[in-house]
Amino acid sequence: MDVALATAWLRAVAESVDADADELTKLDSAIGDGDHGVNLRRGFTAVAALLDGTAFTSVGDVFVRAGGTLISKVGGASGPLYGSAFRAVGKALPPGPAVTPADLVTALRAGLDAVSALGGAVPGDKTIVDAYRPAVMAFGEAVAGGAALPEAAAGAARAAGDGARATVSLTARKGRASYLGERSAGHQDPGATSTWLIFQALADVTA
Ligand code: ADP
Ligand code: MG
Ligand code: MG
Repeated sequence: MDVALATAWLRAVAESVDADADELTKLDSAIGDGDHGVNLRRGFTAVAALLDGTAFTSVGDVFVRAGGTLISKVGGASGPLYGSAFRAVGKALPPGPAVTPADLVTALRAGLDAVSALGGAVPGDKTIVDAYRPAVMAFGEAVAGGAALPEAAAGAARAAGDGARATVSLTARKGRASYLGERSAGHQDPGATSTWLIFQALADVTA
């Protein structure tokens, strides 16, 4: 992945979040406060503006700056969580204008660790982790098995989608949805759904 691909990924996320903002907000209306689509649209619109105005020489810097933008622009739980994840991804990458799929595996794991450390969620809590963790595992296994980036990204997107759909039956134990207790079951988690969009965007730009 080079700087151009990293910025293409984040632009694709911005477009996807914009196109699906109503759907994300609808999911968040069922078990949260109905702002997830609005939150992410605000955040990734700001990320796209950052990319327009900055010349990057390091892939890691793209993600560190994007993460900082999400933290500063998004008030909800998802801003600090995604912001910390992208910052951790960027910081874990070696400096320079291109990184390998193996570098990305390490970095995506660091992003997952950041989300887990900040939010305290474990698998099954009906959060971002339930899509992010299977995506990172699938990505890592594919790269370890010799897959190129497009194939690994496609596998990660499929795993994230499966993880997001599997949140329907779960009872939320973190975030606003946990206030509903067992009434949160029967609805797909908004954050797991947006994580799926993020990995699908990577699959789309690498395909
Ligand atoms: P808020 O809940 O502050 O309105 P958003 O609606 O933007 O923020 O984001 C809600 C999503 O954030 C949830 O669907 C869930 O996936 C995710 N989330 C909330 N708390 C946590 C946590 N502690 N760890 C991981 N993800 C979380
Ligand atoms: Mg919300
Ligand atoms: Mg909110």
